[in-house]
Amino acid sequence: MTVICPQCGSARIKQAHTARNIATSIGIAGGVTAGFNGALTGATVGRTVGMIAGPPGMAIGTLSGAIIGALVGATALGTAGANIGNKIDQEVLNSCTCQDCQYCFNPHHPI
Ligand SMILES: [Zn+2]
Repeated sequence: MTVICPQCGSARIKQAHTARNIATSIGIAGGVTAGFNGALTGATVGRTVGMIAGPPGMAIGTLSGAIIGALVGATALGTAGANIGNKIDQEVLNSCTCQDCQYCFNPHHPI
């Protein structure tokens, strides 16, 4: 998509993605929290499954279950945060700056 400055017609536009960057960070932070809960669940499940193989199996099952739970949580919410942030950038913020006249504008809602 080519964005053109509504002020001077220049095509040299810089997009900020401010909200996307912030929301991605929040999403990853939330994902780590959710991932921690997932890790506890994964650890419990892994431990139960590992019981079949005896004490060494329980330790391995707990560890692998915890790692998988944490990774799934962090990845899922980090991606969700990026999507939400993109939406905010597009709908709410003036996310574009003209490199020629420094005019800030929102390409999706022209004034
Ligand atoms: Zn301009």
